[in-house]
Amino acid sequence: MIRHLLSSADLDAGTALQILDTAAEMATVAGREVKKLPALRGRTVVNLFYEDSTRTRISFEAAAKRLSADVINFSVKGSSVAKGESLKDTALTLQAMGADAVVVRHPASGAPYQLADWVDGSVVNAGDGTHEHPTQALLDAYTMRSRLGRLAGLSVAVVGDVLHSRVARSNVLLLSTLGAKVTLVGPPPLIPVDIAAALAPGATVCYDLDSVLPQSDVVMMLRVQRERMNDSYFPSAREYARRYGLDGSRMRRLPEHAIVMHPGPMNRGMEITSEVADSPRSTIVEQVANGVSVRMAVLYLLLGGNNR
Ligand code: ASP
Repeated sequence: MIRHLLSSADLDAGTALQILDTAAEMATVAGREVKKLPALRGRTVVNLFYEDSTRTRISFEAAAKRLSADVINFSVKGSSVAKGESLKDTALTLQAMGADAVVVRHPASGAPYQLADWVDGSVVNAGDGTHEHPTQALLDAYTMRSRLGRLAGLSVAVVGDVLHSRVARSNVLLLSTLGAKVTLVGPPPLIPVDIAAALAPGATVCYDLDSVLPQSDVVMMLRVQRERMNDSYFPSAREYARRYGLDGSRMRRLPEHAIVMHPGPMNRGMEITSEVADSPRSTIVEQVANGVSVRMAVLYLLLGGNNR
């Protein structure tokens, strides 16, 4: 097993499938009255979040607690980080506390790599800038496999603000490793020209959502990340929704079995309408539930839970 999970590129197909299979076992714990396993008793997991998060932070916390680990939530507000302490000094503090795993979210792409150099424990990237969010890709793959029964050969359209999306990047890498075919769809300014080829040889780009929908098994809608935009990438929210938003009439162009995903948080009415988000095709709530099982699997496997 790998020591850190910093990028989806760290995962070969065997390791990724091992995580998904372990997550399926972990999911059975969620159905029990006592939702706990003793696997990480006595181990310490630190959640180090330099950027806002609702789902991901809670999900990692629930995952670590279900494995009986001690969890320390270290958020920037209220800590010395707010007083300007550097990432390195924070890393040394975590090191002194004996953290076995550090789950880190940071606005700077690459920050988890630096942290991995400074601490002895395992580092899990919970989202770094516009770079990667590998556990999101794993929970998305898990959700696709559980809804559609397979990953190899699936056609997956990843739609919207690809430029700013660490979710897109991690998904393209992982899905390609697992044999799915990815098409990136969105307005040209939000899809860097060479991104598909740079990430995965088989991935393609298309600027016309309507032509992609009838061939898609999965449509993954991305949030328009206004907080990361320092330019205007499209004329107006209305124009964006008209061309790239998924509404009921577009959803009906999908094959009957196709599913609709979104990592959250959603801009309802912009990239996705409520009719779609709340429809039976939508896996958005399942993705959140699956996130806990997948993060349990990641922590368990990284911390050597299977060979202690
Ligand atoms: N929650 C995801 C992330 O942290 C997606 C998003 O923010 O749009 O990257």
